[in-house]
Amino acid sequence: MAQSHQDHIVVIGAGAAGLMAARELARAGRRVTIVEARDRCGGRIFPLPAAEFGYRADGGAEFVHGEAPVTRGLLQEARLSLLPLEGAQWNVEDGKLSREASQGMHEAKLYAALKDLKDNLTVAEFLRRDFAGPDYDRLRHSIERMVEGYDAADPQRASILALRDEWMDGRGHTQARIAGGYGALVEFLIAECRGHGVAFYLGSAVSAIEAAKQRVVVCCANSTAYDCDRAILTVPLPLLNEIVLPPSERAKVAAAKHIGFGNVIKILLRFETRWWIDRQRDLADLTFILSDARIPVWWTQHPAEHPVLTGWFGGPKTHGLAGLDEQELIEAGLASLAGIFGLDANQLRQTLVAARAINWAQDPFARGAYSYATPETRAAQAALVSSAGAAVLFSGEALYRGRDMGTVEAALTSGLETARTLLVADAGP
Ligand SMILES: Cc1cc2nc3c(=O)[nH]c(=O)nc-3n(C[C@H](O)[C@H](O)[C@H](O)COP(=O)(O)OP(=O)(O)OC[C@H]3O[C@@H](n4cnc5c(N)ncnc54)[C@H](O)[C@@H]3O)c2cc1C
Repeated sequence: MAQSHQDHIVVIGAGAAGLMAARELARAGRRVTIVEARDRCGGRIFPLPAAEFGYRADGGAEFVHGEAPVTRGLLQEARLSLLPLEGAQWNVEDGKLSREASQGMHEAKLYAALKDLKDNLTVAEFLRRDFAGPDYDRLRHSIERMVEGYDAADPQRASILALRDEWMDGRGHTQARIAGGYGALVEFLIAECRGHGVAFYLGSAVSAIEAAKQRVVVCCANSTAYDCDRAILTVPLPLLNEIVLPPSERAKVAAAKHIGFGNVIKILLRFETRWWIDRQRDLADLTFILSDARIPVWWTQHPAEHPVLTGWFGGPKTHGLAGLDEQELIEAGLASLAGIFGLDANQLRQTLVAARAINWAQDPFARGAYSYATPETRAAQAALVSSAGAAVLFSGEALYRGRDMGTVEAALTSGLETARTLLVADAGP
């Protein structure tokens, strides 16, 4: 490989994308510095102390979705194992918990309509066009609930073609957890980076990037600055607008408004016992509960026996809870559980051992949970990642052009691709 003069790279952000890019570049002999705003690495991978929940619970990413080849490759390297999800999903319908979801009456028609799709509409446009009228009320509700809950997306903006790929591609439906949580994977990447000489600067929020005469200066709010040849910017989409960029990069960032970015509120409640099983023996293998409660989705750690229930509320309606502080969100979670199980919220509160609630929109270095595709997203991503020779390269989960945007796999893959793009460009013709 040709020796590069561009040997010092500053990676901004120590999430999955930044760590992966840094490792790849450092392994190829580049001098790499990571500058991270938080006082920890991992970003939207946010492990909570084992003492709090009895295991290393995840306040951010928790599941490995689908094939996730880059994640699985890293897990193998790190000798970490994957624990496939087992158990049963329950639904609350007409106020009752039931094991089976009522069969969608229009499922066949839905799948046929999805298969025939030619235009990239939004989900809302698709439903208005093909499933208007009261006969389809239930179908529309369940699709909107899925789009908002799972993809944290706004049906008025989310691309139906992207969702079709997600729903109809049979490869994607397995889910698993990492033994030791996502934190174990982050620790592995940090150790790898350090082993290859990467320098870490935590607690350093980047406020501006200047580029002139083949040099780049990364400036932090704490008045430190890093001189380098190139910068890789991996901050979450909403943060791109808070960093002063050179004019050419600023123009590219304008395209980012066409990439959706949704929010999630995640609530973890540790109880003295798994009271749901004591109440109802057939809930012994409970994994997910889907309901219309204020905090609508809940899951257990089954097959692990931790007495922890995790609540999940995703999508634009989370704005409605923006005024609640952590304690009020925990109360909302307890009230939702009490409603689902027909219990008294006060009794539940008395058996609570530990609780956390994280509204990711209020996290200053995330400002939301993860991205989703709108009909214009692929063009926007192409504009952002276009030039390998640029002074600033953009990377992160939102720039991943595969099927599962918004995942750790997306972030790892994007980081890897950005590093490789840079290495290939430096190697020259
Ligand atoms: C609640 C929740 C649940 C999730 N669940 C899953 C899941 O189960 N499975 C899954 O695969 N994915 C999940 N995700 C998505 C996944 O966490 C993300 O897609 C992935 O971690 C993003 O990695 P990233 O490196 O692109 O961004 P980040 O992890 O956000 O990393 C970017 C880094 O940039 C830093 N930064 C921000 N601003 C600045 C600045 N000005 N200067 C310096 N540094 C800055 C941030 O602090 C952060 O560390 C979830 C996300 C959330 C929030």
